[in-house]
Amino acid sequence: MSHGKTGSDLLELRKKVDLAEIYNNLPKTNCKECDEPSCYVFAIKLMSEEKELHDCTQLSLAQYAGKVATLSRMVQPIRL
Ligand code: SF4
Repeated sequence: MSHGKTGSDLLELRKKVDLAEIYNNLPKTNCKECDEPSCYVFAIKLMSEEKELHDCTQLSLAQYAGKVATLSRMVQPIRL
């Protein structure tokens, strides 16, 4: 990997990603289109890598573009 992070560094980064912060940047409509019962459950699954940002269909709407950028930054340490 080119970013030079070790596994333990990534673990630390991951711990810093706050679940509530992720949830706050989701649409919070609980529309269930991601096949989860609520945006909160989706946030948990994002953190556990069971879901990807694009699984939330609402985030493709233009009004959420800013939130997608924020969410991408937050989940990036998890994915790298
Ligand atoms: S698709 Fe997005 S907005 Fe709808 S419940 Fe899932 S996370 Fe929430």
